[in-house]
Amino acid sequence: MCGIIGYTGAKKAMPILLRGLKLLEYRGYDSSGVSLGSKGSIRTYKKAGKLGELESLLPAGAKETAGIGHTRWATHGGPTDANAHPHAGARGKVSVVHNGIIDNYAALRRELEAEGVAFASDTDTEAIAQLVEALLAKSPGAGPEAAVVAALARLQGTFGLAILFADYPGLIVGARNGSPLVIGVGEGECLLASDPAAFGGAAREAVFLRDGEMAVLRPGAWETRDFGGERLEKEPEPLDAAAQPGELGDRPDWLLKEILEEPDAAARALGNGGRLLKDLGTAKLGGLGLEPRELLAFERVVLFGMGSGLHACMMGARLVEDWARMPALALDASELRSSNPIVDARTLYVAVSQSGETADTIGAAREILTKGGRVVGVINAVGSSLARLCGGGAYVHAGAEMSVATTKAFVNQALVLALLALLLGRMRSLSLSRGRRIAEELEAFPALAAKALGLMPDIARIAQRVKAEGSAFVVGRAQLYPAALEGALKLKELSYVHAEGLAAGSLKHGPLALVREGTPVYVLAFAGDYYGKALIAASEVRARGGLIVLVTDIDDPEARYDERILLPSFGAGGGEGLAPILAVLPFQLLGRELALLLGRDVDRPRNLAKSVTTE
Ligand code: GLU
Repeated sequence: MCGIIGYTGAKKAMPILLRGLKLLEYRGYDSSGVSLGSKGSIRTYKKAGKLGELESLLPAGAKETAGIGHTRWATHGGPTDANAHPHAGARGKVSVVHNGIIDNYAALRRELEAEGVAFASDTDTEAIAQLVEALLAKSPGAGPEAAVVAALARLQGTFGLAILFADYPGLIVGARNGSPLVIGVGEGECLLASDPAAFGGAAREAVFLRDGEMAVLRPGAWETRDFGGERLEKEPEPLDAAAQPGELGDRPDWLLKEILEEPDAAARALGNGGRLLKDLGTAKLGGLGLEPRELLAFERVVLFGMGSGLHACMMGARLVEDWARMPALALDASELRSSNPIVDARTLYVAVSQSGETADTIGAAREILTKGGRVVGVINAVGSSLARLCGGGAYVHAGAEMSVATTKAFVNQALVLALLALLLGRMRSLSLSRGRRIAEELEAFPALAAKALGLMPDIARIAQRVKAEGSAFVVGRAQLYPAALEGALKLKELSYVHAEGLAAGSLKHGPLALVREGTPVYVLAFAGDYYGKALIAASEVRARGGLIVLVTDIDDPEARYDERILLPSFGAGGGEGLAPILAVLPFQLLGRELALLLGRDVDRPRNLAKSVTTE
């Protein structure tokens, strides 16, 4: 889950590593460190806490032109200075940064300790550094690449690695098994990172490593090898500038910047209109790699993801059932991969992930592919592990997302799944006129999202009113249930206030016992079949002292509430199922407002990481 960066070239490495770490900090941020290599020695600086803690330790003007850096999300050993990466061998000859988990580290450690090697940390990673160094010492003539090859043969688990050698200045060796790693090719310089965003514009081209591949970098030269050390020919790919994070500019945080980008990002999800065939009332998703006849043969859709990705899946599943009248299920990817799923050829499997590196979603996709199922990806990060694994799919084109809590990528996932539902629907039960109407609603989405974001003043007022409450509920029925789950997730991950998303119908079956005088209950009440029922639920909660915040698209004089968030309406059709996507936007803003009022770090909530590459 952590971030890795490496640089070798002619420039001073430190500023490039530091910039890379800043761009990666969203991936993990409980400690960070850098190693700088020069002839015969490696200098390492590392520190628990946010990156600023490390920055204050770093010597000004360090001259080394090669180095590695790391921002950590601890799995083995607490977030202490000693456990921060890089980890060195006892003789100081190698330095290692690692993303992932070494399953057999305890056995390796015992073996090395029996040979007299002294360990300095509690991490699994240190075993790699000590092992490589020991192997290098045993056969010095074989060279550093051979020592890494021999070490890789002993490692079990997942890793993205970058290794620096005191006696081989300018050399960085990387290896990948289960954790992302990409080479950046610049002018007379090479970089290595867990995410191309970390190159910060220094690389024009990238070489994405696959599992079982090594990278050998020197200033101005790179090569790839398999774990046996055999050379592999790989072609660099141009880097997509639009997927780079850009600058924060005058925005106070990435979260707000990314929320405000939602209208533009949504337009990109719709291919700026290119993914909508308005005349035919359908959608075009060329990247799926499925012929119309193949799409027609599917009888069922199973969507899977984690966190917000799972909520997008739930929205997608409801749209598929409504528009295509095909049975559709949304499943938690970690459960799917763990439950020996029954896979059949008549089901279309859809893997949804922002980063394309979510370990559980990748694991589920692998399980389904192994059983012969057809998996397509709905992914933000171009070239990510999941995108490559699936082969076909649709990118959501939200652009780089730096804030840990997803906002624009979630909206885009839901929109792309709506496009898929429209496409499948028009091949089945959906009439031309209804298809056209949905295409128009989709086209209108970006402008309505921009209007919804104009509700900031209302939301700031509500945040003030509820900020002292330790608990909140968000309730929605049918299409709005996934929106309630996502809304509650935003509140809890950003503000650390306990927030539960509930199916409106389940409130009376237990959770109502938790509602006290003043407990905020956000009731999603949108035009459609269940508007009246939503108002009844609201009045039942109000009668028990709960503070009702009605989130609605109807300006209804009859409705009773304490606060109201009045969203723009899609018009007569009630959004044809798109309104629930819009319903999530106020919770993104409210989560941020509450977090600021409560003194939280909005971009980097405690204990979390952006891309969950470990299980
Ligand atoms: N397992 C390693 C540790 O706990 C690496 C964790 C990470 O990916 O940041 O230090």
